[in-house]
Amino acid sequence: MGFDINYIIGNVDEELICPICTDVLEEPLQSLHCEHAFCKDCIEQWMKQKTLCPVDRSELLPSHLAPASRLMRNMLGRLKIKCPYSVHECPSEMSLAEYRAHVDTCQYNPKVIVECKSCLMKVPKDELADHSCIQELRNLVQSQAKELAVLKDTQLSHEQRIGAQCRELELLQFYIAAMRSTSPVMGSVGDQLDHYALSHWSARLPQARVSNWGSVVSTPDNHMHLMVRDSLRASGCPMHLLNVMVEQCHEQRWPAAMATLESRNGNHNQMSQFVIRLIKPLATGRPCLCIFGVDNYHMPDNLRPMLAITMIFVESVEETSEDMFSPFEVLLN
Ligand SMILES: [Zn+2]
Ligand SMILES: [Zn+2]
Ligand SMILES: [Zn+2]
Ligand SMILES: [Zn+2]
Repeated sequence: MGFDINYIIGNVDEELICPICTDVLEEPLQSLHCEHAFCKDCIEQWMKQKTLCPVDRSELLPSHLAPASRLMRNMLGRLKIKCPYSVHECPSEMSLAEYRAHVDTCQYNPKVIVECKSCLMKVPKDELADHSCIQELRNLVQSQAKELAVLKDTQLSHEQRIGAQCRELELLQFYIAAMRSTSPVMGSVGDQLDHYALSHWSARLPQARVSNWGSVVSTPDNHMHLMVRDSLRASGCPMHLLNVMVEQCHEQRWPAAMATLESRNGNHNQMSQFVIRLIKPLATGRPCLCIFGVDNYHMPDNLRPMLAITMIFVESVEETSEDMFSPFEVLLN
């Protein structure tokens, strides 16, 4: 909006004065028709109202305006200006180009932003004397508490929406499971969804290590099946896979190379390579774990479960915190 002419050192040519703000041209634009020059901001404001030159009333359109001539820019470049805080004893003199940056940071500017040494809050210099750290921090805490309340509300409504969507998704998965037998396409869509649901679930489960495969309960009774079901459900097993997963806790359903005591004894070295996930223990406290196909692409075919298997142990299972690859990476590859 022009440089205050009162702070310019020496005389200023008439043609360097903006006819709108009557100060020295800032970012001058010149009409290609009448050659009158104006500050960029001044003429842009003006032209929101009128499309006439404010000096001679000739037609003036945005397309008529161009940066001022080199001669004019050179003349402006030679001008020196004093800091407006020279009244507060700032001794600086500078070119017009340096003026705005200096004013913003001038230490004599009463509005310059400084840091309170006690609370580190940024405040205008002239407000520092009246500044109360405690009051400011109290205001800050209050405004943050308000923001937090809004965020909590938002979170709650998101959680409710997610809950509703999960229920819809579950329903959809039940539909697909029911439609599976009707067509091979639905069958393969269903398989992929199971795969996805299991890998999503398994990634959230902690990992575990088995120190003695001999302590596995390989032929659990009905009562144990029910407890496995509870453990799976409490561990977040996708609802539509709950029954399938419960069935997988009997050795009959395990991969060929671990389906009998002899085969397990013969293969326990290889079985130590399994990526194993821990689910909640049975009601009796017995440890329970899942071995997922998506976690175990590195295992040989005769040891890799199709989707997943569940195993109950008498003991010999401990949680580990090893950071393994994400099953999602495997899915994407
Ligand atoms: Zn102006
Ligand atoms: Zn004009
Ligand atoms: Zn200054
Ligand atoms: Zn303070």
